[in-house]
Amino acid sequence: MYFLLTISFLKFVGVTFAAPPLVEYPSKNEVTPYNFPFVTRSQWNARAPKQMLPLTTPVPYVVIHHSYTPGACATRPECIKAMQSMQNFHMDDRDWWDIGYNYAVGGDGAAYEGRGWDSLGAHALHFNSISIGICVIGDWRFQLPPAQQLKTVQSLIAAGVKLGRISSEYKLIGHRQVRDTECPGDALFNEIKKWDKYADYPSCRDDLLSMPEVPEKTKDVIRGNSTYDF
Ligand SMILES: [Zn+2]
Repeated sequence: MYFLLTISFLKFVGVTFAAPPLVEYPSKNEVTPYNFPFVTRSQWNARAPKQMLPLTTPVPYVVIHHSYTPGACATRPECIKAMQSMQNFHMDDRDWWDIGYNYAVGGDGAAYEGRGWDSLGAHALHFNSISIGICVIGDWRFQLPPAQQLKTVQSLIAAGVKLGRISSEYKLIGHRQVRDTECPGDALFNEIKKWDKYADYPSCRDDLLSMPEVPEKTKDVIRGNSTYDF
């Protein structure tokens, strides 16, 4: 009785009790190998993926995206909310297995773990099996992300190379180079064109048919001869 009264009192003065998470995440204090702020799946309370397929690494390509919606986030709580909304949208509306991107980077300068280095993404149709997809959270059609956000994108790519998940000879492209989309936005696209390792090939989806890195089964899908693809 006294206990219940105490709880009522605390509620009365504005203290609320959060429901405990369904899964005990041991990684709240996880040490990451990164020299920039890094937020693990458990730290942004990611839902478990419905399914996973391994990604063969090191991948030869890095694909840059913007989120468009949700818009830019500036603080850890805002960026966590953006991650959760993207994951919910991809899993519930698109019926994908998980958030599509391998990683996302927020305006708070932190990298957020999506599918990670070793799991096949769903971010660039026909190109997922040979790339890591990084989403720069925000709408970057007309303005550039904050300098810190761009710096973390570059540091994350460098970390991927160091960890052997991205080829040291990798090529950097924007999503629009493999699909008819305005992603990653004109402003961001013009920015990454200046980055080390940017490649202007492929420049459109049809170029994928001439690329040795693209698996034959994927080329068959592009030609319209098969529906199997990831
Ligand atoms: Zn995109």
